[in-house]
Amino acid sequence: MSKYALFWFRRDLRLNDNHGLFQALSSGIPVIPLFIFDTSILDKLEDEDDARVSFIYQTLKHLKEEIAAYGSCLRVEYGTPQAVFSKLIEEDSLASVYTNSDYEPQAIERDAQITVLLNKVGIAFHTFKDQVVFEKNEIVKENGEPYVVYTPYSKAWKKRMEEEGIPHYPSESHLSAFKQGIQFPFPAMEALGFKENPMTFPPVELDRNIIRNYKDTRDYPAIRGTSRLSVHFRFGTVSIREKVHKAKGLSEKYLNELIWRDFYQMILFHFPRVVNHSFKPAYDRIIWRNNEAEFQKWMEGKTGYPLVDAGMRELIQTGYMHNRVRMVVASFLCKHLLIDWRWGEAWFARKLLDFDLASNNGGWQWAAGTGVDAAPYFRVFNPELQQKKFDPDFEYIKKWVPEFGTSAYPKPMVDHVEARDRCLKSYQVALSDKA
Ligand SMILES: Cc1cc2nc3c(=O)[nH]c(=O)nc-3n(C[C@H](O)[C@H](O)[C@H](O)COP(=O)(O)OP(=O)(O)OC[C@H]3O[C@@H](n4cnc5c(N)ncnc54)[C@H](O)[C@@H]3O)c2cc1C
Repeated sequence: MSKYALFWFRRDLRLNDNHGLFQALSSGIPVIPLFIFDTSILDKLEDEDDARVSFIYQTLKHLKEEIAAYGSCLRVEYGTPQAVFSKLIEEDSLASVYTNSDYEPQAIERDAQITVLLNKVGIAFHTFKDQVVFEKNEIVKENGEPYVVYTPYSKAWKKRMEEEGIPHYPSESHLSAFKQGIQFPFPAMEALGFKENPMTFPPVELDRNIIRNYKDTRDYPAIRGTSRLSVHFRFGTVSIREKVHKAKGLSEKYLNELIWRDFYQMILFHFPRVVNHSFKPAYDRIIWRNNEAEFQKWMEGKTGYPLVDAGMRELIQTGYMHNRVRMVVASFLCKHLLIDWRWGEAWFARKLLDFDLASNNGGWQWAAGTGVDAAPYFRVFNPELQQKKFDPDFEYIKKWVPEFGTSAYPKPMVDHVEARDRCLKSYQVALSDKA
């Protein structure tokens, strides 16, 4: 085979406005697109019908068809990236590798290993910023330190965006630079060790009115008031730059949410210890009750607090939960039940279609009060008041908890006032100097 460049798809499963792909296609060498079903990730998944695998699988099928229309073929491999790249090097025609940056600690380590592997044989590994608007040290305080509070970060972010504008990388106009006349097999789902999940995924198209009305509708789980694009941002089936561009004129509030996403990616990059530790070290002294039977009730949505239960059941059935309800169920687990936020984080990581290490960890540490710019520890959501405010007609609750209001529905598993007191005492002990 004649020399070719490789574009390695990861969290950027699209052909339009894809920075790394644009750079590869502009390199002057024919490009082979590659996706690796990474066994070091797949082997850790617990559900054989994991919906994320189905989402990726369906998206790749579609990408393969799109690429075929340009006379080329998507190469899909199964194995560890190290093993796959070792094989590609042996084939002896690989000239260079292009990909988009990933900021998770394990991904950074993986990419460092691949860089060494490739550089040893003189192959360059090029990475580009694509999944966030600003990365790494692009938005830092005047003294060069990372921001740990959202509001000043978001102001600096917006200022820089206004000054620089948002680039577009027209990869979609260069698709004829894919290598022609190649063929690769496409694996069956079973060969990956998974089963298709029949779940339907949120569409990538977005009604502009949702964004226009976002600030008034975003907190009500019974209405379709948020974009539902999180899974697409997660896997890069939409371009973050495109959506930021659209949000700019339509909704400041929506833009702010997209900035939270960048903020948590930046935090994870600078403080990778948050993966296992509280951002605020003193909070790692909290003595959690960690009652397994109570955790089970929470996971199943049988706590007797209907807003909590509705959220937990929506999660199991759809792989999604409304943001307002995510905050309520997370606060309930950490504060009412005094169960370690890492347990809840792990359950979300297993079930959320949009699971993203940075945002999930950020969201959990926010709710537990342990994180950057988190809810103060003494703010304990009252799930009943949250329901009165955000689901006053029980519409959302009745959709997910059909037995609500009948004798089959359980009594509250804890008393709110007692649980709140217990929580405050535990946090105070952990945070006192004597702890
Ligand atoms: C405990 C907890 C865990 C969470 N885990 C995740 C997760 O694993 N993955 C994830 O994408 N989001 C997570 N979030 C943030 C938020 O709940 C979801 O992004 C949102 O509900 C997705 O729905 P949407 O696309 O309709 O969002 P919209 O309200 O339409 O927002 C648009 C986009 O902005 C981003 N965004 C919105 N809110 C946040 C936020 N608070 N933090 C970071 N980004 C945000 C998302 O990419 C989202 O798709 C979590 C929040 C909490 C409280």
